[in-house]
Amino acid sequence: MLTLENVETCYGTSQALFGMNLSVGEGEVVTLMGRNGMGKTTTVNSVLGIVTPRSGRIVFDGQDIQSQPSYKIARLGIGLVPEGRQIFPNLTVRENLIATASNRLNNPSPWTFERVLELFPQLAGRLTSVASVLSGGEQQMLAVGRALMTNPKLLILDEATEGLAPLVRAEIWKSLDYLKTQGLAILIIDKNVDHLARIANRHVIIEKGKVVWTGTSPELAESPDIKTRYLGV
Ligand code: ATP
Repeated sequence: MLTLENVETCYGTSQALFGMNLSVGEGEVVTLMGRNGMGKTTTVNSVLGIVTPRSGRIVFDGQDIQSQPSYKIARLGIGLVPEGRQIFPNLTVRENLIATASNRLNNPSPWTFERVLELFPQLAGRLTSVASVLSGGEQQMLAVGRALMTNPKLLILDEATEGLAPLVRAEIWKSLDYLKTQGLAILIIDKNVDHLARIANRHVIIEKGKVVWTGTSPELAESPDIKTRYLGV
C-alpha cells in the first residue's frame, strides 16, 4: 500500500533522510522507531508532502506521490495524527470532527461522527467545548478521531501517546488494537517498545535517516542488543 524507496530529504542544506526504505501492506501495522532526531517525523513529512524529498520514490496505493501536494496525498487515503496533536484549538470538539469528515474512497462501513464517539466516549460529553480546554488525553483522542473522520486507508500516528498519563495512554493503545481488528493499515511512531511489540506485525528501526534493522515482534524480542543499540532501552 505504501512504499518508500531510497528517499532522500533535506531541510535546506541539511540532509535528514539518506536513502530511506519502508513499506506498509494492506491491513498491516508497522512501527517506525529510532532515537530522537533520527528522521522519523521527516519520513512522515516526506510521505505527506509536508517536505518534498530531493530524490527517491514514494508510492501509495499504486500512485507516485513524492511530488504531489499534501492535500492531494491526504485525499488518496492517508490520515495523519501529527506529533503534538495539532487539533484546531478554537473549534469545538464537534467542529474539529466535522471539519475533516469525508468518505472519498467509499469505505463501506465508514467512520462517522457517531462511530468516533463510540470509540472515544469521553469526547461525547465535551462536544461543545473548544478543543483548547480539553485535557491532553482528550486532545489526543480528538486528533485520532479527526484523522478517522477522513476514512483513511492508512493511518499514521506520530508520537500519539507522548506525555499522556498511563490510563489515557492505555485508552489510545486500546483504540489502536480495535483499529487493527478493523483491517486498517497503521504506521506508528512511538517510544513504548512493549506496546509496539504487542500490536505490530513488523518493526523498522532507523538511525541517521536510514533503516538499520527490520523484523517481526518475536525477532525484536530475541534481539535485546538491537533495543539497547538503536533505541537506548
Ligand atoms: P524526534 O523523536 O525528536 O521527533 P525524529 O526521529 O522524528 O526525532 P526528525 O524530527 O525527523 O527526527 O529530525 C531529523 C533531523 O532533521 C534532525 O537532525 C533534525 O534536527 C532535522 N530537522 C527536523 N526538522 C527540521 C527543520 N524543520 N529544519 C531543519 N532541520 C530539521
